[in-house]
Amino acid sequence: MRNLFSTLSRNENNNVFLNSLSVFLLTILIILESDVCFSDEDSRFDGIHFDGNLSLRDNEFAASDYGNQISFRPLAVLFPGSVSDVATTIKLIYKMGPHSPLTVAARGNGHSVQGQSQAPGGVVINMKSLGGNTMKVQTGPSPYVDVSAGELWIDVLNQCLKSGLAPKSWTDYLYLTVGGTLSNAGISGEAFRHGPQINNVLQLEVITGLGDVITCSDETNADLFYSILGGLGQFGIITRARISLEPAPQKVKYITVLYTDVGVFIKDQEHLISAKRTFDYIEGFVIVNQTGTFFVLEVAKYFNPDTADSISQEIQSILSELSYIPSTLSELEQSYLEFLDRVHRTELELQQLGLWDIPHAWLNLLIPGNKIQSFVEGVFGKIINNTNNDPVLIYPVNKSKFDNRTSFVPPDDDVFYMIALLFHANASSIGIDGLEFLNDRNKRVLDFIEANQVGAKEYLPQYSTQEDWKAHFGPRWDAFVQKKITYDPLAILSPGQRIFQKGRVRL
Ligand SMILES: Cc1cc2nc3c(=O)[nH]c(=O)nc-3n(C[C@H](O)[C@H](O)[C@H](O)COP(=O)(O)OP(=O)(O)OC[C@H]3O[C@@H](n4cnc5c(N)ncnc54)[C@H](O)[C@@H]3O)c2cc1C
Repeated sequence: MRNLFSTLSRNENNNVFLNSLSVFLLTILIILESDVCFSDEDSRFDGIHFDGNLSLRDNEFAASDYGNQISFRPLAVLFPGSVSDVATTIKLIYKMGPHSPLTVAARGNGHSVQGQSQAPGGVVINMKSLGGNTMKVQTGPSPYVDVSAGELWIDVLNQCLKSGLAPKSWTDYLYLTVGGTLSNAGISGEAFRHGPQINNVLQLEVITGLGDVITCSDETNADLFYSILGGLGQFGIITRARISLEPAPQKVKYITVLYTDVGVFIKDQEHLISAKRTFDYIEGFVIVNQTGTFFVLEVAKYFNPDTADSISQEIQSILSELSYIPSTLSELEQSYLEFLDRVHRTELELQQLGLWDIPHAWLNLLIPGNKIQSFVEGVFGKIINNTNNDPVLIYPVNKSKFDNRTSFVPPDDDVFYMIALLFHANASSIGIDGLEFLNDRNKRVLDFIEANQVGAKEYLPQYSTQEDWKAHFGPRWDAFVQKKITYDPLAILSPGQRIFQKGRVRL
């Protein structure tokens, strides 16, 4: 007990008094609930109340994320050893009522860029502690895998490949957790045909803001199921997910071609996402430098070695319908695993150069198809004059593949584009104020969107006022608040999204 309070006094929280009070109340509640006492050694509980460990020390990692711009220390980090550890924690904090400042954030792999997985002065739940040999692959005509929400997608893939199966929809990078991407959407080059990852989930196990453990699906507790998918961690913590699978292809032909005319580029991209005979993966990126603005179409066809010849013919035939600059075609054959895990290779290179754990000024936008050309013409070469070898993604998806019952908010058009401005602050290439410069430039992009009524939505949104959130959800705002009242009435969960204030949720 002594240790608990001495650790607390070392924490740099804004409101030490309120947090002291909260820990005191938390302590009393735990003791009343379960006969638990604290060890004199550290912050572990002796009464076997937690299968894992609640740590009050050395928790700096939970105050950081991939963005490296925002840092709020939690009061404690729970390394859950079981689902009931998570439920107990939330239930206890719920019982403390609206005046306690304690909140709870699930931390997946901490790859948010604006503190979304942080809990200032609250409890961070390290979801990766829940994983570990608990994946179960179900083969047969409708295969699926049951996984802990703290599993990384790379581990899910490797496990499924052992049975010749794989999930259908991906993110470009696989060192993200299942719970983290399902709280957003999980969008990549397969989304135009399979929808995002949130469209490929059959069942979830969730712990609500009241501490209730609920299994939900399209058939059971459907309202909770769809609220949670794309729900930014607002309605519950996902502890397990059942993900739909398909037979895994062995090989991939990955092709890139170049365009200089944005109109021709987007015409070809939109043709590909609506054509019956097309590629399995469709993305693209923009390069801006002193010589101009260029567009690279990236496509991939999946296949097994016994169909290599016919696949090559099919690829030629699909490519013959496109209008890229012929001399720019490049083709690469890879294993399916190599292809899906491509960004990790870049990560390792950047880590060696010291360019991975640095500030990232990312801005992800969803632009309605009918505004994409004017957006590109107004932003690239005008607001963004140099992409400096950083990835700037541009690719369309079909809105019909995004289930409108989820909490994900798409823009208002049948086709919309992912525009991912993935800049890192690099003093040597942009000047000493790299981060400030990039954040200011992102603001100018957002100002352009507003001034020209582009009707864009942010993906992985970074709003800081409730007014902005209201505008983001538009006509869906009231329903979103109503769900919050139902599933997390005290606004305990995911404070880092900055949508609700603890204890203040109202229509
Ligand atoms: C290099 C890189 C590449 C990326 N590529 C893509 C991409 O191609 N497509 C794409 O869609 N996204 C992409 N992302 C973004 C990614 O989807 C988000 O960062 C997402 O937050 C997942 O990261 P995470 O697992 O680390 O979750 P965290 O950042 O830890 O958490 C994200 C949010 O979800 C909440 N949360 C986490 N786990 C749970 C849970 N189990 N239950 C409820 N809430 C939870 C957190 O509290 C937080 O609010 C990329 C990110 C990086 C860094």
